[in-house]
Amino acid sequence: MKLNEAYEPVIGLEVHAQMLTATKAFCGCSTTFGGDPNTNVCPVCLGMPGTLPVLNRRLVDFALRLGIATGCTIAPRSIFARKNYFYPDLPKGYQISQFEEPICTNGFLEIDCDDGGRKRIGITRIHMEEDAGKSIHDQSADTLVDVNRCGVPLIEIVSEPDIRSPREAYLYLVRMRQFVTYLGICDGNMEEGSLRCDANVSVRRKGAAAFGTKTEVKNMNSFRNVERALEFEINRQIRLIEDGGRVVQETLLWDAAMNAAYPMRSKEEAHDYRYFPDPDLVPVLVDEPWVAGVRSSLVELPGARRDRYAGELGLPRYDADVLTAEKEIADYFEEALAALPPQAGAAVQENAKAVSNWVMTEVLRVQGEKKVALKELPATPARLAALIGLIRGGTISGKIAKDVFAVMVESGEEPGAIVRARGLTQVSDAPAIERVVEEVLDANPAQVAKYAGGSEKLFGFFVGETMKRMGGKANPAVVNQILQRKLGERKG
Ligand SMILES: [Zn+2]
Repeated sequence: MKLNEAYEPVIGLEVHAQMLTATKAFCGCSTTFGGDPNTNVCPVCLGMPGTLPVLNRRLVDFALRLGIATGCTIAPRSIFARKNYFYPDLPKGYQISQFEEPICTNGFLEIDCDDGGRKRIGITRIHMEEDAGKSIHDQSADTLVDVNRCGVPLIEIVSEPDIRSPREAYLYLVRMRQFVTYLGICDGNMEEGSLRCDANVSVRRKGAAAFGTKTEVKNMNSFRNVERALEFEINRQIRLIEDGGRVVQETLLWDAAMNAAYPMRSKEEAHDYRYFPDPDLVPVLVDEPWVAGVRSSLVELPGARRDRYAGELGLPRYDADVLTAEKEIADYFEEALAALPPQAGAAVQENAKAVSNWVMTEVLRVQGEKKVALKELPATPARLAALIGLIRGGTISGKIAKDVFAVMVESGEEPGAIVRARGLTQVSDAPAIERVVEEVLDANPAQVAKYAGGSEKLFGFFVGETMKRMGGKANPAVVNQILQRKLGERKG
């Protein structure tokens, strides 16, 4: 969708990320997704009178991981507040969240723009909170309530209004997902609700300093939906202003099926949460050793990893981007690279490119087809490395290797065993290949004559025929060499 060039969108995003802790934020209940309704509950997360919440230390650790990774200032003291509202899926009548004193403030995330440049998107704050339950409206005439999710730990990441297009919003979300999954704090699954995003949107005439009136768009459950919803809302605001109207501050719900956003019914909109410090929870005190401990435990972040691949490993920028897009791809690649049998004289860059080619093509293609996590693929990094070793050692050709890989993916057998069992070992025996080449040339006198007459592209035809007769097992280098010689002889 084309946006009116006279206007500039101003977008800020609020991302909720569900933390991968084993237990809830303030009690010992399990956070496992998909349990029977209302089974992962206890008096604490149901808010029974007389119970007391106890903060999950792991939630603080996880918030600190992201805060440190995004260059935030870490508050030595932060507090939890009660956000009061009534809803059937909120038995306590309030949600525990951080309001005035969040744990992390003033960081940034860098995105790679389409023009090749990089842009910093400011992060206003990261705070810890608990999730509410779930109302299920579509079962029957009644609304059902599942409170399993009550108390599940979340962090909310609020960006500065630095985003200037739906595309930038998309890139920010992709990068945020990459960060939380690399850091191991969130599974990043937007469809299951582990990552949720709300957007604040306004438009202003280009060059204007003041922000326009903003609206809030909710209920976007994929990155693509965020992009589409923002395009819709930006266009709606621009049209409204162009027609002499005024944007009203309101909350809109995105309807992906209708490709439109509709205002929330006003009674669903909470106007005043009456935040106040939760009297049941002590302030969160984070000292310097705690921060230093988390900092030293941080994994290599995607940007650093990509730069290392492009630098130290000498991979093309494109390879480095694809390999580091997801932590599991990068981990698979590095494991295979480490397992590659040493070859005399091969530089690390050469090894890296060989493994990269396989991961970017066959491995990712098969993963896409099978829709499984890479660690569940029977073709493990070690087996891929062994396969590449067989090609380099001259045991099999690159073409046969693809067939072997296809078997590995199904059976999980070792590549060496597959090659032996199926008799796929490459034939480098020159006299044997020479006999077949002679047969091919004898069988195709017309093509030989044309080749002699200057149609050099027919060379590929002879290679193909020879390979076909040898079941694809002939060593291509030897085939090429013999063909050159034999064709030369016949020409002369
Ligand atoms: Zn509980």
